[in-house]
Amino acid sequence: MKIFSSLDEFIDSKLHIDAFVPTMGNLHNGHLQLVEVAKKNAKNTCVSIYVNESQFTDKKDFDSYPKTLDADIKRLKDTGVDYILIPEKRDIENNSEGFDPVLEPKILTNDLCGKYRKGHFLAVMDIVHRFFQIIKPNIVVLGEKDYQQIVVIKELIKICNHKIRILSCPIIRDDSGLALSSRNNLLSEAHKEIASEIYKSLVLVSRLYEQDSSPRTIEEEINIFFSKSLIELEYFTIRDLKTLQQPNDNDLIALIAGYLGTVRLIDNIIIKSHLK
Ligand code: AMP
Repeated sequence: MKIFSSLDEFIDSKLHIDAFVPTMGNLHNGHLQLVEVAKKNAKNTCVSIYVNESQFTDKKDFDSYPKTLDADIKRLKDTGVDYILIPEKRDIENNSEGFDPVLEPKILTNDLCGKYRKGHFLAVMDIVHRFFQIIKPNIVVLGEKDYQQIVVIKELIKICNHKIRILSCPIIRDDSGLALSSRNNLLSEAHKEIASEIYKSLVLVSRLYEQDSSPRTIEEEINIFFSKSLIELEYFTIRDLKTLQQPNDNDLIALIAGYLGTVRLIDNIIIKSHLK
């Protein structure tokens, strides 16, 4: 395993990276699954660790984002990953072109999480576009935990004509159903238990859907569910799985975001259509 803390050294090495796994560090089993999938599907794998300040809409959220570089490197070593890239902001900016904001697909980026985190997805498109130019991978491996991010990056690839294939991986959860997330480290044990209500609500969504409840009825039930919870719902909605636009007869996805105290949690569940 080779660790590049200098972007110049990475670029000078002229590596041919097959699979790229972007992360913001504080690695858990959700991230490690991405590395495993990358390793199974690619000749070599490069994991980046970079906390992109511009995509944080709340400065306090950025400041409190857990940073555990030594532990991350150790975990990655155990996976047998080939390369770790830990670049500096200035070097990334000096070695790539930014994403042209005029091209932002606002119908997607200002919706769902983007509606509540203004500028978040434009910043994600910018950093991923820069990484794609620098690393030039054949494959990028992404987690379905951030489902809207996958759809946004798919759009980025189309808009900028990157020759990169997306491999997406299912959400890894703990025993209570709580989706693993770096932000879970900011929750007390008691709050972690409460946070698992998010997944419980998504299981309820699946069950209601199986019973042929309409999206509107399901949304009402979920609002009732969270009216009795300490979690403050930011949004819950059911959308088309591929486009994230309003639902139709295709496969669907239920997406949710909420706050437990100051910690923002997101989750989703894919609902296969039985109407097709
Ligand atoms: P992050 O470090 O939070 O930016 O996440 C880096 C990548 O890991 C993204 O593609 C995430 O979707 C993915 N990821 C984070 N948590 C999970 C999880 N619990 N299950 C699957 N993928 C995840």
